[in-house]
Formats: sequence, C-alpha cells, structure tokens
Amino acid sequence: MTDHPDDPEDLAERKMRFLFALRSRGVTDARVLTAMEKVDRGLFVRGIFAARAYEDMPLPIACGQTISQPSVVGLMTQALNVGPRDTVLEVGTGSGYQAAILAQLARRVYTVDRWRRLVREAQDIFRQLGLVNVTAMTADGSHGLPDQAPFDRIIVTAAAEDPPGPLLQQLKPGGIMVLPVGQSDAVQHLIKVTRGEKGFDYEELRQVRFVPLVEGLGNE
Ligand code: SAH
Repeated sequence: MTDHPDDPEDLAERKMRFLFALRSRGVTDARVLTAMEKVDRGLFVRGIFAARAYEDMPLPIACGQTISQPSVVGLMTQALNVGPRDTVLEVGTGSGYQAAILAQLARRVYTVDRWRRLVREAQDIFRQLGLVNVTAMTADGSHGLPDQAPFDRIIVTAAAEDPPGPLLQQLKPGGIMVLPVGQSDAVQHLIKVTRGEKGFDYEELRQVRFVPLVEGLGNE
C-alpha cells in the first residue's frame, strides 16, 4: 500500500476505514452515514493536512480554526435529527463540512461564521458541489439570524459558556439545538436542547472540545 493521497485504491480504502470509524464511534443513523459518505471531507481540508482528511481527528483550517472530528460531526448531526422539511441554522461555518452534510438532510441550511475568508472559501466549495440549499454568511452567530428565524434545528460548532439566549428564542416549538457548552480551556459538554410547549429540556450527550464562540467579526 502506498501512502500517496491521490492513489485511487488507497483513497477508496481510506474512505471505507473512515465510515467504519464513524460506525464504531456510535454514528449509526443510516441517513447520516449516507450523507457523510457523499460529502468528501478531502475537499474541505487544505495543504499538508489534506492527506489526513479521512482520519477521525480535528484538523487545522484557515483563520486559526479547526474542522471538527468526523465522528463528532456525525454524532451531532445524528442528535439533531434533521428532517427533509427542516430549516437549519449552523453557527460556525468553519470549512463548510458540517453545513454540506446538513444540506443533504435538510430543506434549507443557513450557516454563519465571524471570518469572511472562511465564508468565502466555504461558498466556493458549495458552488463546486452544486449545493443550492446552503446559504453562508458572515455574521456574529451568537445573535442568531433574526431575519431567517425561527429554525427547526440549530447547531453550534463553537463552545459558549451557556446556550446564547437569541438562539434559544429563534428555535421553533418542537425544535432541537445541539451545541457544546463550557469554557474554552475546560471540559465542555455537548448538549441537546429541545424546545417543548412549556419550556426547554436539556440533555447532556458527551464531553467534547471545541474552539470558543467569540463575539464580533474577525479581521480576515
Ligand atoms: N463546523 C465547522 C467547524 C467549526 S470551527 C466545520 O465543519 O468545519 C468553529 C467555527 O466557529 C470557527 O470557524 C469560528 O470562526 C466560528 N465562530 C466562533 N465564534 C463565532 C460567532 N460568534 N459567530 C459565528 N461564528 C463563530
């Protein structure tokens, strides 16, 4: 076996191992697995890290950010329980990988990042993939996206100390939000918030590690 990233046989084997790793880490929802099989993570990772795109690890992207670990992307997507008629908001576009997966499952996806450069690069990939149901925008996602609210599903891929109030408000009744909470240098928990008729229900899923949710826009 060669270690060359462009070798087609090697690539097929890497992708197979990638899907196996997802399953063995608890990503069992067939729709999520199919979406993750379709969206090539290799397109979202650049430079020297591209060779590691099919390994189950977070990797550096531009602007000092990271593309999340695939099994965590899978578990978050699974917990979000997205249906084909749902409108989804993602806070933290990053590479665009998570948004591209959501676009396979939802009717419409809005994704925002505080870095213009990341939004532009993600838009290029969405265009290349012909994903017409994803809209990426530069914005401080801690305020949500009031013009497009309310949302059936909200996913936050950067850690806040508490679920931001505007995001809770922009969740439809019956809606689900999945997000990491906790300080950036401490243990964070992935939580699932469900909005019921009377209030919010919180479920703790597992420990995670994400970059922090930062206020304001980046300068790149
Ligand atoms: N979901 C991404 C990974 C996200 S990394 C992927 O699939 O690749 C977390 C992202 O959240 C970073 O790009 C960071 O810039 C962004 N972020 C942090 N605070 C934010 C905020 N207040 N509003 C919008 N995006 C934010």
